[in-house]
This record gives sequence, C-alpha cells and structure tokens, in this order.
Amino acid sequence: MVKIGYFHKKKLKKLWSFGRTKPGKTHVNQQVNTFDLFNDDTQSITVNNDNNTLIQPTSRNVTKLNLLSPSDADYQTINTKFMSHIPAATVRAIFYLEMPEYIVERHELMKKTIPVPRQTFHGTKHYCDPNRYITSKGEAKPCDNVNCGLCGIIKAGNRIDMSSSGIWSALHATTSLAYTLPTPMRVMFVLDILSDLPDNTLTPYVTQDAAAIPRFLILFQYA
Ligand SMILES: [Zn+2]
Repeated sequence: MVKIGYFHKKKLKKLWSFGRTKPGKTHVNQQVNTFDLFNDDTQSITVNNDNNTLIQPTSRNVTKLNLLSPSDADYQTINTKFMSHIPAATVRAIFYLEMPEYIVERHELMKKTIPVPRQTFHGTKHYCDPNRYITSKGEAKPCDNVNCGLCGIIKAGNRIDMSSSGIWSALHATTSLAYTLPTPMRVMFVLDILSDLPDNTLTPYVTQDAAAIPRFLILFQYA
C-alpha cells in the first residue's frame, strides 16, 4: 500500500487547471499526472478530474517498462528496423512500454477516427542516467527534471504543451537521431501516431496528445 504523503494545495490547483480542456481543444480524458509533486519515490498521487478527489497510484496512471529479451519478436522487429536506419548504432536495451490507462484509452478512442497508426521514431534529450532503467530492468523511477524528455515521456507520453508546434516524429530513425543528446547513451522512442498527413510524409506531426502514444524505448550508443 502506498501512502499519500504531504500535499501542496496550490500546486494541485495549478496542475488541476492545466489538465482542463482549453477552448478549441479536445481532451478525451482529463486525468492529470502529478508525479512531479513528490521527491520521495514512494509517494505519488493523481487527480481525478471528475470529482477532484485523490486516488492512489495504480496501473492506470503509472507507466510500466518491460525490458525485452533479444530473442523476443518485438525486440527483433524494432531492432532490425532501427539498425537498418542507423547501422553504426549499438542497441543496449529495448523496452516495451505499457502506458497509463488514460493515455491508452484516449489513443484508442481517436482510432475510431483514424484507425491505422503509423510507426515513427522520436529522439529526445535526457538529463539523468538512462542506464538505471537497464540495470533495474525497468523498475527505476523517472527523474524530476522537467527538461528530461526521457522521463517526461515515460511518465506522461508525448505532450503538445512541451512543444510549440505539435508532436514531431520521423519515419526514419536517422532524422530523430539529431534530437538525441550526444552522450554515451542516447534515447529514442518508437511511437504509434494517428495522422491525416500523406503516408510518405517523412516527419509527420500531430497536434493532439491522443494522436501519439509511445510503444517502445530504445537506449543505444552512437559515437
Ligand atoms: Zn530523467
């Protein structure tokens, strides 16, 4: 049982208003992830916008990282595609991501409009040590640095409000490589995106959070 810890009302109010639907925007589910509230890894809460009550962390709001074995079919599919794009890379780990339920649900709902997702790559920066996700087999806690794309996307998926022009991703991993941090370990997500743009659009972007969902995380080296 995870206990609910100290809680700052003003901060909740800010997060609460952040999750509300803005005019002209569609939020399928307005649940807000508030893990940044706590430094203590054992304490987290979330806000249910329906009645503004606190609930405890469950599989509904916490991302599960599943470290894939190189013999796993998903590992081989993702690895083969990624390596065909960036042959000089060395893949250190591939995780299958089980995103929080509210992210899965809003994406599934949007599939009723755009039924066929396309698989894209999304390189991002990190401001913590990605190795700990490998050594802990996916059990490590995301860091609290708001600039850390690795942990931000793990926690809450790709978010429009983190970019001025929509959520960008690329059909080709080489394009996304430029958006990773040139450190010994680099970070790239594999997304499913729902886009109206032509199939051959090299860098399809989407303008709703629901349109993008992270499926895999690739940690790799590239000198
Ligand atoms: Zn981080």
